[in-house]
Amino acid sequence: MSLNHPVTADALFARANPHTGWDQALAQRLLQQRFGRPWQREDLLQALIVVQHHFGGIAPAAQRWLARQTGTDMATVQALIDFYHFLDSEADPQLHLRFSSNIIEQHQGLAALMHQCQSEASGHVRLSTTACIGLSDQGPAALINGFPLTRLTPHRIDSIVHHLRQGIPLQDWPANWFMVDSQIQLRGPLLSWQVRPDAFLGTVLQQAPRQLMNALIASGLRGRGGAGFPTGIKWQHCADTPAAERYVVCNADEGEPGTFKDRVLMQEHADALLCGMTLCAHAIGARKGIIYLRGEYLFLYAYLQAHLQRWRQHHWLHPGFDIEIHLGAGAYVCGEETALLESVEGKRGIPRIKPPFPVNEGLHRMPTVVNNVETFIAAAWIAVHGADAFRQLGTADSAGSHVHSVSGDCDRPGIYECTFGISVDELLQHCGAQDTTWVQLGGPSGTLIDHSQCHLPLAYESVSPGGSIMIFDSSRSLQDIARNFTAFFAHESCGFCTPCRAGTQVLQRELSHPLDARKRIAMMELAHTINDTSHCGLGQTAGRPALAWLQRESC
Ligand code: SF4
Repeated sequence: MSLNHPVTADALFARANPHTGWDQALAQRLLQQRFGRPWQREDLLQALIVVQHHFGGIAPAAQRWLARQTGTDMATVQALIDFYHFLDSEADPQLHLRFSSNIIEQHQGLAALMHQCQSEASGHVRLSTTACIGLSDQGPAALINGFPLTRLTPHRIDSIVHHLRQGIPLQDWPANWFMVDSQIQLRGPLLSWQVRPDAFLGTVLQQAPRQLMNALIASGLRGRGGAGFPTGIKWQHCADTPAAERYVVCNADEGEPGTFKDRVLMQEHADALLCGMTLCAHAIGARKGIIYLRGEYLFLYAYLQAHLQRWRQHHWLHPGFDIEIHLGAGAYVCGEETALLESVEGKRGIPRIKPPFPVNEGLHRMPTVVNNVETFIAAAWIAVHGADAFRQLGTADSAGSHVHSVSGDCDRPGIYECTFGISVDELLQHCGAQDTTWVQLGGPSGTLIDHSQCHLPLAYESVSPGGSIMIFDSSRSLQDIARNFTAFFAHESCGFCTPCRAGTQVLQRELSHPLDARKRIAMMELAHTINDTSHCGLGQTAGRPALAWLQRESC
């Protein structure tokens, strides 16, 4: 796939010129370009994102104007700016360099690289850190004005500092600095498949919706976003709920640190994703689809828009069906499906109380299927190759293959598609890992295993891999890993409920000090309380990293 120079390619979001202050007429033109239609209250978040990128911040005058245009008020606008980490009411300097502070990048020397840049943090450059930006297979990495800089080394940082000092516009920085590689190391059925959209639509969409959903149920496909709910049953529940409208939403907000597989699937298999979403629209009777693209993947926005445009020109979308892309703005909690729906509606991403589930009351309280990128691609694969072909792969309870994002202490980080049932050990051999001491499966909210457990198979009925596999050798400190993960949860807590909001702050603070036996027990109790009493999946897993460390310390 060719993305050329992402900054040059993206006229809507690239901040080409020095910050010149708020310009209402320019904003009006940009938003007309963004929406191509009259815009409304639910467009407020997307409008704020455009203004943020173009003007470097959302000044009070811009807030007032946006509030008026969307029929809302300043308090609502400011609440959104406070909630989303990538929005700011203070104007950034001309350049904002955000380093990814994932533990993998910390281990790769992040602190020294940031120190090297420190002298440039001045009038026209702002330095900060952010949670994982989905590039830990090619880090250390950073975002500059939202666009990724990969494979940072001391030498590369010297060159960046030179460009900063010379005031060279981002568009003129070398394109290879922005290169995002797919790094596919092992292909299975999904990554080996090149779909032809016209053939797909000509055959698959001739089948009755019920027949397609029965095939999905028979295939045993389970959602690849983490919960593992049977996909065919989810679609059927949605189709069976009486409603005037139904929606298809693709969760492309893979914010779990160490996860980047959906980025690669979108880079390499965008057609298959659109086939899967179109298939779902046909099955459930939806007229509108949304791809919720994490803000860190801004560089894919223009690329996916171009794909969609091609599909519209060829009339490949199901008749009466269209897809919009919504950008996230740096809030991990929006990966939770109901928080994501709130965000699509232009609100803060506070998770809803369930039930009702999105298949009954989702986007705009209408039945909605929310699946992630890999799930839609797997559904399209099944529609072409058949349920039996899928069932033959994997294990009895975990049919098919899973795409893993592998990073950390190994020779070949990147993307591995393996059929379910492969052991952790086999995967470690594939990626050239040696002296492995710990493996974190499924990101900070997942499971930590030690080397004695690496014989276990990766499958829902054993250790569920989630999207990410982070490898740590014997040189790494489990305490450092636990601290990094706990700090991540404390930062990402949306603040809605007390155990998560306050508990993660206390855990983060206490874990940075030496702990005596009494304190360790108190922190384990606190971690359990956070897990047991929080409202959503973020809080319900936020105590895990601390427990993984403290329980092993206590043995
Ligand atoms: Fe928000 Fe945390 Fe509560 Fe989830 S558990 S709703 S992230 S405060």
